[in-house]
Amino acid sequence: MFDSLQDRLGSIFSGLTGRGALSDKDVAAALREIRRALIEADVALEVVRDFTDRVREKAVGVDVLKSVKPGQMVVKIVHDELVEMLGSEGETIDLNAPSPVVIMMVGLQGSGKTTTTAKIAKRLSGRDKKKVLMASLDTRRPAAQEQLRQLGEQVDVASLPIIEGQSPTDIAKRAVQAGKLGGHDVVILDTAGRTHIDEPLMTEMADIRKHADPHEILLVADSLTGQDAVNLAKSFDERVGITGLVLTRMDGDGRGGAALSMRAVTGKPIKLIGTGERMDEMEEFHPKRIADRILG
Ligand code: GDP
Repeated sequence: MFDSLQDRLGSIFSGLTGRGALSDKDVAAALREIRRALIEADVALEVVRDFTDRVREKAVGVDVLKSVKPGQMVVKIVHDELVEMLGSEGETIDLNAPSPVVIMMVGLQGSGKTTTTAKIAKRLSGRDKKKVLMASLDTRRPAAQEQLRQLGEQVDVASLPIIEGQSPTDIAKRAVQAGKLGGHDVVILDTAGRTHIDEPLMTEMADIRKHADPHEILLVADSLTGQDAVNLAKSFDERVGITGLVLTRMDGDGRGGAALSMRAVTGKPIKLIGTGERMDEMEEFHPKRIADRILG
C-alpha cells in the first residue's frame, strides 16, 4: 500500500529540498504535482482539493520562501496536513460502556468481516483480558456461522451456539442476553453481508441496531476497493450510523486512496487496519506512522 504515492512524492520533494531557494512558481508547481499524485493514488477529489488548499495557505503563512531551508518547510507542512487529514492518534475500539459492551460489525460480503470479528475477539480476550462472546447473524449462509465458530475455536473465544431458524435480530437479542447472563465484557455481532448495498440489508442492519443497542458499529471495508470503499462508508453511515472503520487488506498493493480519504469524507475514524489473513495481523491505525511511511 502507498508504494507508488511514496515514490511520486519522494521525487517531488527531492526536487524541492535539493535546492537552496524556491520561488512562488516552484511551490505552485510542486503543489500541482502533489495534487496529481494524490488523485492518482485514488484519494477523493474533494479531499485532494482541501488538502492542497491548506498546504498552500500554510506555505504562504509561514513565509516558506524566505526561510533557510524552504524545501524542508514545504515537506513538513505536507506531513502535518497528511496527519491532520488522517485523523487524530489513538482512536481505537471504545469499551467505555456498561457490560456487555456490544460491538456490531457491518460491511459487504468478502470484505473481511468475519476474519476481523475473530481478530478483534482474540485481541480483546488475550491482550485486554476481556471475556468475549461472538455471534454470527448471517442466517443466509450457514457456512458463515460455521466459519465464525471455527475461528472462535482457533482463537479460544466463545461463540454463541447456532440455533437454526432464528432471525438475525433474534440471534442478536439472544447474544446480548447470553452476554449478560454469562458475565461477558464484550459481545461482538458479525452481521450478514451482501455483494452490494441493498434496501433489505440496510433495514436488517437498522433493526439489529435498534434491538442490540451497540456501543460500537464498525464498518469493515476492503481498502483495495478504493473510492468504492469510501462511498460504502458514506452509505452505511447515513443509513445505519457507524462509529468507526476497519480497513482490511492494507497488506495488498492498493493505491491507498481509501485509507487517505476515509476520515475526511465520513468524519469517522479508522480504528483498525487488517494487514493479513492471520489472526494476529491487525494493527491500530496511527496517522503519524502512515504519514511517515508515505513521505519516507
Ligand atoms: P466476510 O465475508 O466479510 O466475512 O469476509 P471473510 O472474513 O470471510 O474474509 C474474506 C477473505 O479475506 C478471507 O480469505 C480472509 O482470510 C481474507 N482477509 C480478511 N482480512 C484480510 C486482510 O487484512 N488481509 C488479507 N490479505 N486478507 C484478508
